[in-house]
Amino acid sequence: MTAELERVVVVGASLAGLRAAETLRNEGFDGEVVVIGAEPHRPYDRPPLSKKLLAGEWEPDRIQLRQAGAFDELDVSWRLGVAAAGLDLDERRLHLTDGETVDFDGCIIATGALCRRLPEQSRYGHVHELRTLDDSMRLRTAIADGGHHVVVIGAGFIGLEVAATARQLGNEVTVLEGASAPLIRGLGAEMGAAIGAMHEARGVAVRCDVRVDRLHDDGVLLEGGELVESDVVVVGIGVTPATQWLGDSGLELRDGVVCDETLRARRDDGAAVPGVYAAGDVLRWMNPLFGEEMRIEHWTNAAEQGAVAARNVLAAAAGADAEEYGAVPFFWSDQFDIRIQFLGRADADDEVAVVAGSIDSGKFLAMYGRDGRLHGALGVNAPRWIMPIRKLLLAQASWDDALSHAATL
Ligand code: FAD
Ligand code: NAP
Repeated sequence: MTAELERVVVVGASLAGLRAAETLRNEGFDGEVVVIGAEPHRPYDRPPLSKKLLAGEWEPDRIQLRQAGAFDELDVSWRLGVAAAGLDLDERRLHLTDGETVDFDGCIIATGALCRRLPEQSRYGHVHELRTLDDSMRLRTAIADGGHHVVVIGAGFIGLEVAATARQLGNEVTVLEGASAPLIRGLGAEMGAAIGAMHEARGVAVRCDVRVDRLHDDGVLLEGGELVESDVVVVGIGVTPATQWLGDSGLELRDGVVCDETLRARRDDGAAVPGVYAAGDVLRWMNPLFGEEMRIEHWTNAAEQGAVAARNVLAAAAGADAEEYGAVPFFWSDQFDIRIQFLGRADADDEVAVVAGSIDSGKFLAMYGRDGRLHGALGVNAPRWIMPIRKLLLAQASWDDALSHAATL
């Protein structure tokens, strides 16, 4: 089936990369699969890093994405603790940080994202970021015994999940956010404010519209001179896609590796690059279902895209039709006893309506509309209400039809 496809290299040994490698094998590819991973660990799951692992309820062996035996059965050459440093598209060759090179016939880029940092962040021992297992274990040691004043910069997903965990461990917690409400990028201002109020009710101080001037030995200094005192600071101000190693590759890079509907990468002159695909947080692609270019930083899409990229590497080599990835974006987030689930998209100017339950009761479904169509939906502690909305989004339901559906709940 794939005579000319002898070696596929996957760059990034995490969720999207693992799913890509597994899919290659599940689809019958019997050539060489090499997975390059910058971290020393085999693929592990990131969501518990801000929740059960950080809380000390789980240990690292519980977050491995597969049992040791399953990793071995995959028959993959794992190159861990070494990063890709460059990609030569003409030679179809990867350069690694240890000076070695790996030639490939197919390549799947799944390098995820890197935390944004504040100036001089690494100078301060009490300042943390949270992306890796090692980050989580370090932060866990700092907050485990409670009684600290933890200041979290950024009221995004990291910020609010860490705030909830740190508070539940008996710490005083203050969240500092530059925007007018928490989670604006994920949920929009109105619903973000509702989640912020739930945190306040559980003892977290959420301060929005604040400008951080700089980090300080005793905490965080705000513009205007106020010092927010703290012995543990967590910076959760977003991520940038890990494309720095692709700078002179000739691939089109624009806040991610830019790909078509089939997740195939292209050169910066627009020409498609045969055999090179991307998946996960690093991918920016045209989602045909929404007619929008997207880059998504959540679990479900990374897993699905890894599988689609692998199938399309094989399809291209076999001369078969490629599969488009036109999915409904989905994420969840657990904060205290609040389970947030979101399907679709939320933009700042979307129409938003709570259509079932109520914010005050702590259980509700909100819908987001745009241009007369359903655009997204948020469920808070409402899994039975939110999940059927996927069908409506797949069917590109009108806003009126979506409201009629809601009236039946
Ligand atoms: P990543 O998981 O970031 O993995 C990329 C891998 O590539 C990393 O191991 C990195 O070291 C490696 N790498 C980078 N550069 C190179 C290079 N040059 N060469 C080789 N290797 C390289 N999503 C949800 O939907 N729900 C949640 O509750 C949730 N919780 C989360 C909690 C935390 C603390 C974090 C950090 C994320 C959470 N997410 C959650 C998001 C989800 O985990 C990510 O979307 C997902 O991990 C993305 O997978 P990925 O494989 O694309 O990238
Ligand atoms: P995020 O969700 O993008 O949130 C970052 C927040 O910090 C934004 O609200 C941002 O506001 C704010 N911010 C930026 N600069 C700031 C500053 N100088 N001072 C104060 N606030 C500032 O990113 P994150 O929370 O850091 O999460 C990192 C990654 O992990 C993301 O990819 C996220 O999706 C992922 N993650 C996901 C989950 C989940 O899905 N449940 C959980 C944890 C982590 P602006 O938008 O205005 O810049």
